[in-house]
Amino acid sequence: MSAVLGGFPEWVLSLAYLVAGVMFIQGLRDMTHPRTATRGNATSAAGMALAVGITVLWFDILSPLVLFGGLLVGAVIGTWLALTVETTEMPQLVGVFNGFGGGASALVAGAELTQLFNGTRTLPVDVTAAAAIAGIIGAVTFWGSLVAAGKLHGIIGGAIRYTGEHVVKVLFLLGAVFSGLVLVVQPELFGSVPTANWVPSYWALVAAASVLGVLLVIPIGGADMPVVIALLNSYSGLAAATTGFVLNNTVLIIAGTLVGASGMILTVIMCESMNRSLTNVLFGGFGEDASGGEDMDDIYEGNITETSPEEVEMLLDVADRVVIVPGYGMAVAQAQHAVAELADLLGENGVDVEFGIHPVAGRMPGHMNALLAEADVSYDKMRELEAVNPTFSETDVVIVTGANDVVNPRANEDDSSPIAGMPVLNVTDARSVIVNKRSLSPGFSGITNPLFADEDTSMLFGDAKESMQELVNHYKESSS
Ligand code: NDP
Repeated sequence: MSAVLGGFPEWVLSLAYLVAGVMFIQGLRDMTHPRTATRGNATSAAGMALAVGITVLWFDILSPLVLFGGLLVGAVIGTWLALTVETTEMPQLVGVFNGFGGGASALVAGAELTQLFNGTRTLPVDVTAAAAIAGIIGAVTFWGSLVAAGKLHGIIGGAIRYTGEHVVKVLFLLGAVFSGLVLVVQPELFGSVPTANWVPSYWALVAAASVLGVLLVIPIGGADMPVVIALLNSYSGLAAATTGFVLNNTVLIIAGTLVGASGMILTVIMCESMNRSLTNVLFGGFGEDASGGEDMDDIYEGNITETSPEEVEMLLDVADRVVIVPGYGMAVAQAQHAVAELADLLGENGVDVEFGIHPVAGRMPGHMNALLAEADVSYDKMRELEAVNPTFSETDVVIVTGANDVVNPRANEDDSSPIAGMPVLNVTDARSVIVNKRSLSPGFSGITNPLFADEDTSMLFGDAKESMQELVNHYKESSS
């Protein structure tokens, strides 16, 4: 017990941990809806501040001054990151955060083992078993996340494959597991050397798991990294929870379990939305062949109708219902404000306007919702796939801006396509479709899109922000 909190009975710590745990759960609950997500973030962060603050002070780990200094440094770095990182770079930032979580778990479990070992020269089995799991998962998470973030950021190249890669991975896994068994069965091995004040088997398993973390992620294509990052997020939670068992710390077990479970649910949702299995993500090679092995001319030549902002504006003038479908390109172009302005103008003129949001549009879950919310689009206007699909047959104009795979009818029609079975927005049911993108290039999945060649589709070529702004200008002129 610390000098600072010396007068408090033990139950105060338990109560603080309970309150922090409830705040995490409430925070997660709030994060399930975009409207309450910001509050959920703040609630969880406050719960974490409470948990960290009371732990550090109660166990006299740091002086209040050092704790405050650490918080200040963290707050400055966090604020700087929040202000400078683009939303399209968010997945890699999350990747780095997960990695640090996993690395911290492995280091804390190791430090605790060393301290216990130095005191007693023996280690209880439950502690060594938990530490072995924390060390393996934590090290895999740290190195795997760094590689994943590096790939997403373009620092590390695409899928790196080599002959016998699975055998090499299994060997490192076996090495880590063997060291873990030594740690559990005979923790004092090598540590009985008079000068040794550490537990070599633990650090051997961390070393093997570190190499394994790198090897597991390097063969996966950059395009699949968001799913890998969600999975590693789950791992970082598991590592934290098992470290909680090493330290016998309830709040760490609660927080880690919540992160582990929510990360796994997110991974499953992402895989389902792409209609792919986790095994296919981890061991497949999706999106690596940008051409999809097809000749674009076969599908597009002679079948593409080009349009202009003036023509689109004329269509909008006579429309009663318009649905805007945003995609990754809207995020790249930062077109959300122009898109929101267009929706406002249409709404002011009595047009029924909604946004059709696909669960994996963009490059991270909730990507489109977050961007549109930033541009003050009301959440009531954002309709999810299941809700908006039946309304397309009643829609006069669909404006697809920067989206491609999420509106590709091949998902429904072509069983051999990589996106076969993926639920998509059935925009072809609408009277006319305007597709705004810069070219006929494929999207994330690397395949052609027959929507572009559909008789009711017109292509509005150009950067999403510029095109939407031009459309706004024309619409304003015509309605004034
Ligand atoms: P896509 O990646 O299918 O297509 C995006 C399109 O945007 C491209 O075809 C590109 O065409 C266009 N584009 C790029 N820059 C601009 C710009 N400045 N202005 C206008 N258009 C632009 O995106 P979708 O959102 O339709 O689909 C998301 C894909 O990502 C799905 O396949 C999904 O499975 C995958 N994915 C999603 C994740 C998520 O969590 N959201 C995670 C992992 C993968 P052009 O170059 O011609 O302009």
